[in-house]
Amino acid sequence: MFSESLHSYVHENVSLAERCWLRIGGSARFFAEVPSSSILTQLCREATAASLPVRVLGAGSNLLIRSEQIDALVVRLTGEFEAVTISDNKIVVGAAASLGDLISAAAESGLAGLEHLAGIPGTVGAAVVCNSGVKNDDLGSRVQRVCGVDRDAEEVELSREELKFGYRRSNLQHLIVTSAEIELQRQDPAEVTRKLQANWIVKKAGQPAVDDCLAQAFIEPSGWQISELLEAAGMKSAAEGEASMNPTFPGYLGVTKEADARDVLALVGRIARAVEVQSGIQLHQQLKIW
Ligand SMILES: Cc1cc2nc3c(=O)[nH]c(=O)nc-3n(C[C@H](O)[C@H](O)[C@H](O)COP(=O)(O)OP(=O)(O)OC[C@H]3O[C@@H](n4cnc5c(N)ncnc54)[C@H](O)[C@@H]3O)c2cc1C
Repeated sequence: MFSESLHSYVHENVSLAERCWLRIGGSARFFAEVPSSSILTQLCREATAASLPVRVLGAGSNLLIRSEQIDALVVRLTGEFEAVTISDNKIVVGAAASLGDLISAAAESGLAGLEHLAGIPGTVGAAVVCNSGVKNDDLGSRVQRVCGVDRDAEEVELSREELKFGYRRSNLQHLIVTSAEIELQRQDPAEVTRKLQANWIVKKAGQPAVDDCLAQAFIEPSGWQISELLEAAGMKSAAEGEASMNPTFPGYLGVTKEADARDVLALVGRIARAVEVQSGIQLHQQLKIW
């Protein structure tokens, strides 16, 4: 399917379970680790010509993979996409850099404005597309420019005026984000680091140990505490098959190795219905389903 120059990048029938935090699910028909823009556009062009969908995998902290093989080319960005470059109060960051690395680099350079995101797992690319954040304070409000590859395998650049960020969403769903430019404010590095560490401690104390097979099930509705909604609906410890809510850390679910994506979907669906009946609030799934 792919030309010979791409053979060393593309692998067939690659398990995605080990690349995702929940550690469950099937394989990708094609999988490639992509180190540069030129390889990425070439892969996307050939996949598009063959009517093969292209999906992008970040750190896998927000993905639920179904058991069936995914008939797509799944790419994971590496190499040049991990770079973080700082000049004045601007940072150009590759989509494959971890959000943690971006936040630390900003703090070390005395650039404030990302400390509230401390402890959120995942890559910058996913955080931009999903507009990751804490309550109403998000990453999108700091993003000035986004570069990516669109569905026609063309490289595109979006300016601040073209970007639309909402509560945990953006208008970038159709793109493979490759980099973002972020604008921050100058502050004393020691002060930025102090705030970052304080937020990190609070975040870590409110979530399960990251070596568990876990996920944040729902987007916390603006103005509500997910813990109160689950408690009121009697769903704090709900379980379906091998998936269960973590009663100590409300809103997080865990799975055993025997779990199936259907267990997670059944659990999340049951909770959403119960919360809507009890509180009239519609919960939206945080997890992306493949
Ligand atoms: C313990 C825990 C705590 C969390 N806390 C928070 C929190 O406080 N706030 C919050 O907002 N979220 C939180 N999350 C959710 C998660 O961290 C974010 O959604 C994060 O942005 C996912 O990043 P990832 O790289 O793991 O993405 P993945 O899980 O790999 O992918 C998620 C989605 O992003 C897409 N994507 C990935 N990379 C790109 C790219 N380069 N271009 C386009 N699309 C891309 C994927 O296709 C997929 O649809 C938490 C999750 C866990 C497990």
